[in-house]
Amino acid sequence: MHPAFVYSPSYDFILPDPGTGPDLGNLQLFDTCRASRAWKLAREQCPEIEANLLAPRPITDAELRLAHSESYLENLTDSEAIAEVLGLPQAAALPFEHLDAAIVQPQRLAAGGTLVALRAALQCGVGINLSGGYHHAKREGGEGFCFFSDISIAIAIARSEHGLQRIAVVDLDAHQGNGVSSIVTGNESVGVFDIYNGEIYPGDEQARKGLRWNHPLRSGCTGADYLELLERELPRALDEFAPQLVLYNAGTDIVAEDPLGQLKVDEECVRRRDAFVLSQTRERGIPTVTTASGGYSDLSYQLLSALVVDQWLQTSNRT
Ligand SMILES: [Zn+2]
Repeated sequence: MHPAFVYSPSYDFILPDPGTGPDLGNLQLFDTCRASRAWKLAREQCPEIEANLLAPRPITDAELRLAHSESYLENLTDSEAIAEVLGLPQAAALPFEHLDAAIVQPQRLAAGGTLVALRAALQCGVGINLSGGYHHAKREGGEGFCFFSDISIAIAIARSEHGLQRIAVVDLDAHQGNGVSSIVTGNESVGVFDIYNGEIYPGDEQARKGLRWNHPLRSGCTGADYLELLERELPRALDEFAPQLVLYNAGTDIVAEDPLGQLKVDEECVRRRDAFVLSQTRERGIPTVTTASGGYSDLSYQLLSALVVDQWLQTSNRT
């Protein structure tokens, strides 16, 4: 079956003009319209995908409480709290309404989109959210631009509403998924497989203890070395754990051009990575939710678009 795609133009972030607002540091590296650019390019290349487009809906407060403390959610009501999650004290100078509409509400929608992708994956095998994958958000607070742990919430719902007993997270964003691993630490029904650059943010030693399969890389790792590790370790992990669901966090900040990932994986190897992960889960009949996660180069939207098109064509050949 073809994958389902989850996307809305409201996924895009609206940041202040760098010329008029405060200096927003790394936030200004973001391609704020990445989701829309990726979907537009994918549709131009493959108009048929429109038939499998699903609309996201904002995540509810009750769903957020599955992964976050009441005190964190209650305090997310002023500019200072948002600036703290962004790691940018200067953002506190912006009006709350602006920050909320520009960043928090798109993430609420994207987190709900991951839940729409979960339902779709359980029905048709693969659900791809063109946003989401906010893997740094922890129970007591967001960090690293991540407000809501959509992956952890999807895990909780997969267990409580769908009765799944073994769930794997395959996190291949360049950064360690410290929020997700800290939230699921001690939960034997969840296994986190994480390949990340161990020399950059977040350097969270405590959260690494929550990883079942911990694969830190050095800065500058090439595509050949990256794929060699992935192709050796992922099949072993999936066979050992036999998950009933995989949440694949497909960050594109591993690409060499990315200003934050510090890896040297070429574009073609990023495409091969995505194809490999999804072929491994498909071969084993494991429903898979894919989230877009990080990516700060101008290639990010193109790689996200390629994931959408490649997966559509892959399943077209089979049906
Ligand atoms: Zn990242």
